[in-house]
Amino acid sequence: MKTHNHISRTKGVTNLELLVFVLIAVCAWAGVVHGIKIGASYGTPGKWIGGIAGLITGVVAAGVYVFVAALINEPFDRFWRWWRPYPPMCENGKCEGLRANETCKIPEDIIQKIKGISWLGWRCKCGNLCAGGFGYGMRNRWVRVLANGEIRPYLKHRSFGRWIPDDGVGIGVPGKNEKIEKALDNLDRVKLPGWVMACLLTVIFGSVAAITVWNNSGFSNPIGPWFVVACSAMGLVFGSVAWWLGPSKFH
Ligand SMILES: [Zn+2]
Repeated sequence: MKTHNHISRTKGVTNLELLVFVLIAVCAWAGVVHGIKIGASYGTPGKWIGGIAGLITGVVAAGVYVFVAALINEPFDRFWRWWRPYPPMCENGKCEGLRANETCKIPEDIIQKIKGISWLGWRCKCGNLCAGGFGYGMRNRWVRVLANGEIRPYLKHRSFGRWIPDDGVGIGVPGKNEKIEKALDNLDRVKLPGWVMACLLTVIFGSVAAITVWNNSGFSNPIGPWFVVACSAMGLVFGSVAWWLGPSKFH
């Protein structure tokens, strides 16, 4: 059971925590903006008080959202477990759900051999080992891992559907995600020379500054061009530092 807690933490809760963090940040920001707007009619102290009050209101609102979401999530979760139990009923029709299964690690050689299978295995009370997967047709599937290192298709489901018997069609075939992953992999292998970094940052910083100046004064301001030059120089410095510190990708 301890393993399971660990899994749900690494797989789901961290994303949720991130979401909560973003929610708090957005609410706090909205609170500050509105608070300052409301407080502005009372002069500078009004702005300060409004901003701080807004910040507090925002954070409290975020807390309330999270609380309500948790309240809604509970019955939703229960419905989902009823609709499509996880882990599903075992082949003997005896074991279903988290309580009837123990987590374990799928042996390394099986992970190597069966593309896309999860490293997390589930052993039911009958002693049968099953696992789900991520890619190569293993997503939305529940297969039996046999003692001889083979897998046997057992159940599958559509995105929102219930478990149905699996004919095994499509296992081992790369899907859309695998293709995207491969493309990203190739992109990752492109090595940018360090000086490209420096030039690129110079141009980016320079153009952002130029656009800003253009929008504000259309270059009628004598300081404008110097601002652009200064920003470009800053980009060059940043780029050179990045080149110098050099993550392994930039040589
Ligand atoms: Zn069983």
